[in-house]
Amino acid sequence: VIKEKHRNNYKLFESSISENFKSMLTMESELRKALSKDQFEVHYQPQKNLKTGKIIGMEALLRWNHPEKGYIPPLDFISLAEKTGLIIEIGDWVIKEACIQNKTWQDNGYTPAVVSVNLSAKQFHQKSLVEKITSILEETGLAPEYLELELTESMAMTNEDYILATMQRLRQLGVWVSIDDFGTGYSSLKYLSLFPVTKLKIDKMFMDGTQKQNRAIVKSIIHMSHSLNMKVIAEGVETIEQLTFLEEEKCDEMQGFFLSKPLPPEQFSKLFATSN
Ligand code: C2E
Ligand code: MG
Ligand code: MG
Ligand code: MG
Repeated sequence: VIKEKHRNNYKLFESSISENFKSMLTMESELRKALSKDQFEVHYQPQKNLKTGKIIGMEALLRWNHPEKGYIPPLDFISLAEKTGLIIEIGDWVIKEACIQNKTWQDNGYTPAVVSVNLSAKQFHQKSLVEKITSILEETGLAPEYLELELTESMAMTNEDYILATMQRLRQLGVWVSIDDFGTGYSSLKYLSLFPVTKLKIDKMFMDGTQKQNRAIVKSIIHMSHSLNMKVIAEGVETIEQLTFLEEEKCDEMQGFFLSKPLPPEQFSKLFATSN
C-alpha cells in the first residue's frame, strides 16, 4: 500500500513538472514571437519634482500585449526572460524605444525630462552594455543626461570591481544611475559610498505611513541620500497624506498612482502637456 501511494505521488509530481515545463517552453516561444510580432509596448509613469511641481522624468515600464491574453504584467514574464537570456534582446528594445520616445517628446517641444529604464542583472553584466548604450544614444539623438538606468540592490553584491568600472563608464558617458526598490534588497551602505549612484528610489513598501517605523525609514533614506549627494525619489505614492509627508521631509521627487499610473505614450503626452 505504501509503495503504491509513493508511486502515485511520484506520478503526480512527474506530471506537474512536465506541465510546468511545457508551459515554460510555450511561454519561451511566445516571448520570442512577441519580439518579432511587435507585441511589446512601453508605458510611461510620470515623476514629479516636489519643489517645482513639474514633471521632470518618466519611468519606462514594459508591457506585453498578448493577442489572446491581453496585457501581461512584467513580473509574470521578466524572470523567464532572464533565465532564457531573452531579456537581453527585450531589454535592448526597451532602451531604444524609451530613447526614441523621449527624443520625440523633446522634438515636439515638451519640457526635457529624464526617461528611466529598468536594467536586470543579466543586462548590466553584458560586456557590451556601455557600447550598446552609447550607440543607442547616437542613433536616437537623445542626449545622455536624459537617460537614467535603474539597477537593483541585488546586483551590487557580486563582482564589485566590474560593477564599479561599468557604473563609472556610464557616468562618464553622462547617463544617470539609480538604485531601484531601495531598502528591500541586501543593501550594504558601503556600496553607496563606493558606487557613483546618482539617485535612490525608495521602495513603495515604505509608503505605508500607518507604520511608524516606515516613516522613520523614509526620513532616514532621504537624509542619507542628501548627505551622500544623491537625489531621492519615493515610489508608490498613492495618497495626499503620503505626498504631504514627503514634501515635509524634503524628498526631491515622487512617482505613484496619486499622480498617475503608467500610461501609453499618447496618454502620457496629454498629461505632460497640461501639467508642465
Ligand atoms: P519597478 O521598477 O519598481 O516599477 C514600479 C512598479 O510599481 C510598476 O509595476 C508600477 O506600475 C508600480 N506602481 C507605480 N506606482 C504605484 C503605486 O502608487 N502603487 C502601487 N501599488 N504600484 C505602483 P509594473 O509596471 O508591473 O512593473 C513591475 C516590475 O517589473 C518593475 O518594478 C520592474 O522591476 C520590472 N520591469 C518593468 N519593466 C521592465 C523592463 O523593461 N526591464 C526590466 N528588466 N524590468 C522591468
Ligand atoms: Mg523601476
Ligand atoms: Mg521600484
Ligand atoms: Mg524593480
